[in-house]
Amino acid sequence: MRQPLSRELKDLLERGRDRQLRLAVTGLSRSGKTAFLTSLVNQLRHAGLEARLDLLPAAREGRLLGARRVNQQDLGVPRFPYDPAMAALSATPPRWPEPTRGISELRLTIRYRPARPGWFEGDSRQLTLDLFDYPGEWLLDLPLLAHDYPSWCRSQASLGGEQRAAHFADWQAAVAGLDPAGEADEARLAEIAEHYAAGLRGAREAGFADLQPGRFLLPGDLTGAPVLQFFPLPGIAEADPEALAALPETSNYATLARRFRYYQQHIVRPFYRDHFRRFDRQIVLVDLLGALNAGPERFQDLARALANLMQSFDYGRRSLLSRLFAPRIDRLAIAATKADHVTPEQHPRLVALLEALLAEPLKDLRFADVPVRALSVAAIRASEAREVEHHGRRTPALRGTGLDGEPLLLFPGEVPERLPDDAFWARQGFAFPAFRPLPLEGGALPHIRMDAALDWLIGDKLQ
Ligand code: GDP
Repeated sequence: MRQPLSRELKDLLERGRDRQLRLAVTGLSRSGKTAFLTSLVNQLRHAGLEARLDLLPAAREGRLLGARRVNQQDLGVPRFPYDPAMAALSATPPRWPEPTRGISELRLTIRYRPARPGWFEGDSRQLTLDLFDYPGEWLLDLPLLAHDYPSWCRSQASLGGEQRAAHFADWQAAVAGLDPAGEADEARLAEIAEHYAAGLRGAREAGFADLQPGRFLLPGDLTGAPVLQFFPLPGIAEADPEALAALPETSNYATLARRFRYYQQHIVRPFYRDHFRRFDRQIVLVDLLGALNAGPERFQDLARALANLMQSFDYGRRSLLSRLFAPRIDRLAIAATKADHVTPEQHPRLVALLEALLAEPLKDLRFADVPVRALSVAAIRASEAREVEHHGRRTPALRGTGLDGEPLLLFPGEVPERLPDDAFWARQGFAFPAFRPLPLEGGALPHIRMDAALDWLIGDKLQ
């Protein structure tokens, strides 16, 4: 009698564990998070109906019975705005959804039939899927935890080229006269901090991504709070550390250092502790084509930002992250988004380029035994692949509609397979306009390889 009981208990425990999955989507601003999560929910809700998910075995085999939204557990996190996103995509003419700005969550229960039903299983099982969306900019703050205030100042002083520095000219003028030993004046610090934040925002609008502190870009409910009123002090590198430490509590230096510590302890750490640490799976979205379109300085900047961001997935035992938070992500995907901006035969090149760009972080991840897969996807495909006759030869092309409603037929160019060199930028053989979403026919959004992404991220839980 005891044997079957213990087996049943084990089964129950196992099923309990398998029936819930916390999947997080991140990426820098405009990398396509909102589009991705909208499409993911949409595909699962239409699974077994109109959705085309051939690369997801549970769907291909007709075992995916559907998904339903249910109330989320964590009442402190805003709900992901799926309905407004679908309303924008269903409008005439269709519009891209408004991007989300902070963390948001949506819970789905997925019903499926197991590939091999167990002896006491009913016909179908349920998987609870908690989906999270949060700004990749927040991950840029992880390296900040490794610093104290003076070393952070030093790390920020050496950043970037001329184009980037130009955005900080006002801040530089404002901070130039600030004496670290002088008595702190709240209003003045707030003003200089606002120049710093404006510099970060300007740099981001110009397409730069390697920007810290992340919350200065997406302050949410912290707008105007003193915790966001600090900045690096230039010239600290040459100062004597002991003399700095001896400055009075009310000095500019000590005030800024205190705010920096507060930011570390009360903003950065809680995100990792309360959210990040609890994610099971993660997908990082990268707008690689956007960076290629924008030129070499932005491309370099994206590479730096990603290297920084990927540190949040380095689970090597000695990594900062493991020491601080013991996270448990057991599978990671990295996806180049908006693949419908290039013709289909370019997609393998897009993946090769993504792998080349992330070669170092990927090596670390594989070394640390985190299974990771690189893909290219279009969460919401907005173009159609065509062939056109050009000088008597058939060449691939894309057809779509521009944002202003003009019809487009184009060949956007070749994606370099390796990191682009000077010759590539000199040729600059790559340019594409943005497409308007296609009018929605039937219930499911058109996509490219969302099913492959889904298979990697949740497919094993639908077996
Ligand atoms: P977020 O800031 O990371 O949430 O990015 P969004 O999801 O708002 O995407 C930013 C913009 O990229 C959108 O407004 C679209 O213009 C474009 N975009 C996102 N996903 C796709 C896609 O799959 N195909 C195409 N063509 N454009 C996309």
